[in-house]
Amino acid sequence: MKTIGIIGFGASAIGFVQGLIDSGKIDKYRITIFERGRDHMHNTISGVRMDGKIFISRNMGGDLHIPADIQAKIVEFYLLHSGFKPSMNDRRNIIQYLRSFEKDGKKIEFGESFSNEEVYRNFYHYGFEPVKAYFFHLGTDVLKQTNTSIYSYFSSFKNIDFSFNTIVQDVQIGSPFKVMTNHGEYFFDELVIAVGRSGHSLMERIKKQYPDLVSENYYVDIGVRYELPDHVMERYSDMYEVKVRYKTRTGYMCRLFCQNPSGRVTLEKYEDFTTVNGFSDTYQKTENTNFAVLVTTRFTEPFKDPTGYGKNLAKLANILAGDDRKVLLQTYGDFKEHRRTKRLSRVYPTLDENSFILGDANLVFPSKIRESIIDFIENLNRVIDGVAYFDNLLYAVEVKFYSNKFNNNIVENLHVIGDCSGWTRSIQYATSMGYMHACSKTTSFS
Ligand SMILES: Cc1cc2nc3c(=O)[nH]c(=O)nc-3n(C[C@H](O)[C@H](O)[C@H](O)COP(=O)(O)OP(=O)(O)OC[C@H]3O[C@@H](n4cnc5c(N)ncnc54)[C@H](O)[C@@H]3O)c2cc1C
Repeated sequence: MKTIGIIGFGASAIGFVQGLIDSGKIDKYRITIFERGRDHMHNTISGVRMDGKIFISRNMGGDLHIPADIQAKIVEFYLLHSGFKPSMNDRRNIIQYLRSFEKDGKKIEFGESFSNEEVYRNFYHYGFEPVKAYFFHLGTDVLKQTNTSIYSYFSSFKNIDFSFNTIVQDVQIGSPFKVMTNHGEYFFDELVIAVGRSGHSLMERIKKQYPDLVSENYYVDIGVRYELPDHVMERYSDMYEVKVRYKTRTGYMCRLFCQNPSGRVTLEKYEDFTTVNGFSDTYQKTENTNFAVLVTTRFTEPFKDPTGYGKNLAKLANILAGDDRKVLLQTYGDFKEHRRTKRLSRVYPTLDENSFILGDANLVFPSKIRESIIDFIENLNRVIDGVAYFDNLLYAVEVKFYSNKFNNNIVENLHVIGDCSGWTRSIQYATSMGYMHACSKTTSFS
């Protein structure tokens, strides 16, 4: 029996193990999964533990080609493990079939962006690039069941062992692969690295040791989490998420991302800085919608540290908020007028009051990023009236880091999958990448 070590138990590792099961290869291996979280419920914050919006789309979520039938299979996999059951048997129209899933008499929250031609054209007319996708939203509350069900199912295989509370500190590529953890060293015939974004320190070490396996990354997405009353976005609620990109007057691309209707803003805590994010529950609703407004920042030689740039802006916001576990909150109107926010009106934050300070995000953002955010919001307001209300809220800073792209075709029996590979940035694409690697041991990149 060959041995496989899998580092990390998140979306891509789940896809990999399910791929081994579906392709009938599972019995050929003895599998050990190392996860630094203390159990399957307490690993690092990620989309499989928070929010759980799973989409089917060709144009977002990763730089791989994932066939539509695999994407549909992944959605079905997560729905079934979340306790949803189909209310129709006919699978010929796969989207109708998937959206028929229900649980306790409640239909899965579903949205289809830009299926309405008139809406599509209206956004297009104002300079936006609309992104088409189908959304299936599980909710943070439901994800507990999802994770427990997946973990119980995988644990029922006698040849799969879980090692929780285990931090992989380093790996040595070779035959066999050596995995060094806080509990000792292990050796494997095959190695799967699936540590997501939170595993960046391990990936940095691998990158330093094996520079030929990765290509440089020049990008970082920097911006704010924006919060406004639900009713502003109501007209577009059938989409679930208004997924658009816009070339701003600075030349920078800005995008609306990760929309959470009736949701909450939350902190994303890293070792030495804190950023913002958002999520929504299936059952516990608020009256506010939040989404990220992110500016894609690209650097050229000689600067090679976009991640450091993003981290330092986030740290600066934490410093101004007086605590490395707090972020800045400002009304959109004050942000535009260069004024520190002293009081709020009409829109009240869903983020816990101990997690922010009313302040001035103008002291954080370089002007090119600030101008891009304002240009994006003002133009979006031409299509969605009310997006630019004075008292809408913005939280600083939200950052999305890009990992260096890993070349999986150089070392045999080594699979670097999911967000840490640089090829994905979503549950769908990370799970699918793992799945396809396990089924075929290769993935086609586009
Ligand atoms: C708050 C939040 C909400 C999100 N919401 C969504 C959403 O709704 N929809 C969507 O598509 N995407 C969402 N995302 C993005 C999505 O979570 C990721 O794209 C996806 O989970 C990537 O899968 P992965 O397997 O690469 O990494 P992960 O799912 O993050 O899994 C990596 C695992 O590796 C473990 N690990 C890390 N380092 C080590 C180490 N050294 N040793 C051992 N274990 C380690 C971590 O604990 C973690 O469990 C969200 C992300 C965040 C942070």
